[in-house]
This record gives sequence, structure tokens and C-alpha cells, in this order.
Amino acid sequence: MVETLEIDGSMGEGGGQVLRTAVALSALLKKPVKVFNIRAKRSNPGLRPQHLAAVKAVASLTGARVEGLSVGSSQILFFPDEVKASDIELDVGTAGSISLVLQAMMPVLAFSKREVVLVLKGGTDNPRAPPIDYVREVLAKNLSRMGYFVDVSVERRGFYPRGGGIVRFKSKPVERLKPLLITDFPGLKSVKIFVYSSRLPRHVAERIAGSAASQIRSRLKVEPAIEYEVLSGEERNASLDPGCGILIIGTLEDDMVFASSALGERGKPSEKVGSEAVSEFIRQVEHRAPADRNLADQLVVYTALADGVSELRTHEVTLHTLTTIRLVELFLPVRFEVYGEVGFPGGYRVSGVGFKR
Ligand code: ATP
Repeated sequence: MVETLEIDGSMGEGGGQVLRTAVALSALLKKPVKVFNIRAKRSNPGLRPQHLAAVKAVASLTGARVEGLSVGSSQILFFPDEVKASDIELDVGTAGSISLVLQAMMPVLAFSKREVVLVLKGGTDNPRAPPIDYVREVLAKNLSRMGYFVDVSVERRGFYPRGGGIVRFKSKPVERLKPLLITDFPGLKSVKIFVYSSRLPRHVAERIAGSAASQIRSRLKVEPAIEYEVLSGEERNASLDPGCGILIIGTLEDDMVFASSALGERGKPSEKVGSEAVSEFIRQVEHRAPADRNLADQLVVYTALADGVSELRTHEVTLHTLTTIRLVELFLPVRFEVYGEVGFPGGYRVSGVGFKR
């Protein structure tokens, strides 16, 4: 009998990511896991519907048996089985983040037996979660350099409170993941400002883009390309609730991509949405660090599984990154060499285990 690994969900960041990563690795490595103190460091600890959806989604991919799966639960037991490769439709519920459910499923799907198509319903653009365009433009592009190809298309955006977004996702599994080096900053090749809005007047999107563009021109001496997706309430694919946001995507001379983003909120001036995203973006460029801080935590699992030495340099080491590293080291025989401290530039280097399908 395989021993059950016990994971303290309050470790480090103590949020949903500990749970999602633990369940993904449990499914992939077929190691049963018990996660206790789930989201203990959050003001609303325990499983929220979005976390529940992520665990259920991974369970359905792997025929896992799960105990403790209810809203508010602070402990689950996850007993994985074979990774099946079935197409799934799932509803994260209201505006629960589709990207975060994908965060739990994608490492498992990387090693599934065949291509998988998912249709996910929920929120596409949520606070403190990757905007769906970030998954497509940044995470997916970096994963493709590791040999893992995914396709993400947004059929309808879903904003708080009702969500209702629809995302179609397709993954092409790998035999093994190639390692990834994201260490150099050879110079900026281009900057794209992407602004989306639904059920809001057009000037909202234009003011967000205008404020970001003027700061990019003056601080970085670069002319950004601006792309809009502005939907009125009349359009077939308009979201249920109004919402808007910005993603600023930087491409380096070696085609490495990174991004920074911000979401609109009722009462938040449009110009502030633009400058929030831009200040983070400029900070990264000034540090000449090729990986944004979110990519740094999101690639930990993949670099640990890859076949060879990966290294990544970021403008900000986060507690999310350090926590995911500690967690991954409990599952896999890897040692991350981390440099830098939380809140400061740094990075990591790891010799991956060469996990094979
Ligand atoms: P909780 O509700 O417990 O706070 P959570 O389930 O929302 O947790 P976290 O543990 O906080 O999740 O993890 C959030 C994840 O979302 C991290 O991987 C982080 O990198 C990612 N993320 C947050 N904001 C962004 C952003 N603006 N762009 C890209 N990724 C983001």
C-alpha cells in the first residue's frame, strides 16, 4: 500500500494554491494525499466553491476517491487512480476562477494518454487569479517552450458576481517536459496593451489603454501596440455582468513573454486600472528580469517535473513561489536552489526529475 502524504495547508502562503498543487501532484504521481488546515491563513478558511471545483476536476480526470469534499471543509483525503483522458465539461460555479481550476488540471493533463478538450464555465477575470488571457498569452507560451502545447479560447467572459464565462481548452500531452531557461533579458522587442471591456461605455477601455500607453512611452521609450475587445450588452458573447481589465504583454528579443495585469472595479478610476498594470510592468523591465512574479510560481511544478536543469529569474520572489517550492520538494526528490528574498528580485534553479508519462 502506498503511504498517504500529509500536507499542512497552512504552510507558507497558506492559501488555495497549496491545495491545488498538492492535488495535482498526488494525481500525477499516484500518491494519496491528506491536506489539512486548508487555506488556514485566509480570512475565510477551508474549501470555497472554487477550490472544491478544482479538486473535483482533478478527481474526475484520475478517477480519484475524495473524502471531505464540502464547502468550508478544512481537510481532504485524495486517493488517485489512473489518469484517464476524457473530455470534460465543468462548471466552476458563479464567478469562480476558471484559470485557477486549470492551474490544478494542467500539470495532470500534460501527461495524459491523449489530447483532451475541456469546456469550463465560471469567472475568466478575477481578483488575485490569473486573467484567462494571461494563461493563454504567457503561461501557455512558456509551457510550449517546454514542449507542452495548450490552446485556450474565450467564448464569453465571466465577471463577478454571476460569472457565466465560457472557456474552451485543449491540451496536447508530452512524453517528457523539456527544461526551461528564463534568465536573460536581451532587451524588449515589443509591448502590447490589451484592454477588454464588456457592457461598459467605450471610453472606459480607451482611458485604461491611454493611461498605460502614455506611461510606457515616457518611461520605457517604447511605442506600445494597443488592442481592444469592447463588447456592448447587445453582442451575443457579452458577459452577464459588466467588467473590464488590462493585460500588458512584453516580448523580449529572444521571444520570451511576460505580463502584468489589472482589473477594473466599480468606483476605481479607469486611469488607475491602467497605471496599476503599468507600474508593475515597468518595475520588472527596470530590474531586467525576464519572468514576471506570477509566472515564477506557476512554473515551479513544471520545472520540477522537467527532464534537465531549469532556471528562472524574476523581478520579485513571492511567498507563493517559495511555498510551492517547499510543497513540490515534499512530493518529488528535487532541491530548488533559490536566490533572493520575498519582495525582491531573485530566482531559482532546479534539476527536474524527468517525469515520464
Ligand atoms: P485563496 O482564496 O486561498 O487566496 P486562491 O485559491 O485564490 O487562494 P492563491 O493561493 O492566492 O489562490 O494563488 C493565486 C494564484 O494566482 C497564484 O498562482 C498567482 O501566481 C496567480 N495570480 C494571481 N494574480 C495574478 C495575475 N494578476 N496574473 C497572473 N497570475 C496571477
